[in-house]
Amino acid sequence: METQARPGQAPTGDGSSALSRERGPRDINALLARGYQVETCRNCHNAVIDVEGTARGIDESLARLELGGRLRAKEGGRLLYHHLFRVAIAGCPNSCSQPQIKDFGVQGRSRPEITAEECSHCGLCEAACDEAAVRVGAEGPVIDTSLCVQCEQCARVCPTGTIVAARRGSLVLAGGKLGRHPQLARTVADMVTPEEAAVLAVRAAEIYVTRGAPGERFGCILNRLGVGVLQEQESGS
Ligand code: SF4
Ligand code: SF4
Ligand code: SF4
Repeated sequence: METQARPGQAPTGDGSSALSRERGPRDINALLARGYQVETCRNCHNAVIDVEGTARGIDESLARLELGGRLRAKEGGRLLYHHLFRVAIAGCPNSCSQPQIKDFGVQGRSRPEITAEECSHCGLCEAACDEAAVRVGAEGPVIDTSLCVQCEQCARVCPTGTIVAARRGSLVLAGGKLGRHPQLARTVADMVTPEEAAVLAVRAAEIYVTRGAPGERFGCILNRLGVGVLQEQESGS
């Protein structure tokens, strides 16, 4: 079983990196009393989801779980910073708040779609796409979905409505961590609403409290149980 290398280490500075904002208290004792930490990205113009609303919904849902006291009991009365259930919300695939290395992560996505509107062949969509996922030929644009990360930049610059943002939602990730044995979070669900993200966050936190051994990171619990445990709970089985 893995534990963090530096138990008891408090967040540095104001608890936020240059690319993320921490919601709620920054004082370590107040954080430990809550038992969880929610960070968001800086929520810039690239955001394709309601970052603040999504964070608020998750924050309020986790607050009802009284994680601080329950985690403290699980840890034998000695709750440390690395025991917190950590959540990050990013407004777009740039992932500035690093949801891939948190216990629970949310990343905004926007799925582009090609419509019947005539393409002017201006090339703006090609220029806007950092993934080289859109190519404009004689028949108009073609999007390679294997390269597209669903950032919406092509749809935003298209002057004719030939490419539009067809659907927005969030990718939900779980089980990421750093520490001695770092691992990236794995995909739990795609294109979910803020409400669905909050439900999944509660399920993940409950699994963390009730199915983890003392000191066991959430990513390690998912390695043991399989990430499907979250989908199983989602389907009610
Ligand atoms: S993740 Fe996207 S929306 Fe959030 S700050 Fe970074 S670029 Fe902006
Ligand atoms: S959504 Fe983003 S990654 Fe996908 S084709 Fe458009 S600009 Fe490229
Ligand atoms: S931005 Fe729109 S109009 Fe311009 S080339 Fe791309 S699809 Fe065509």
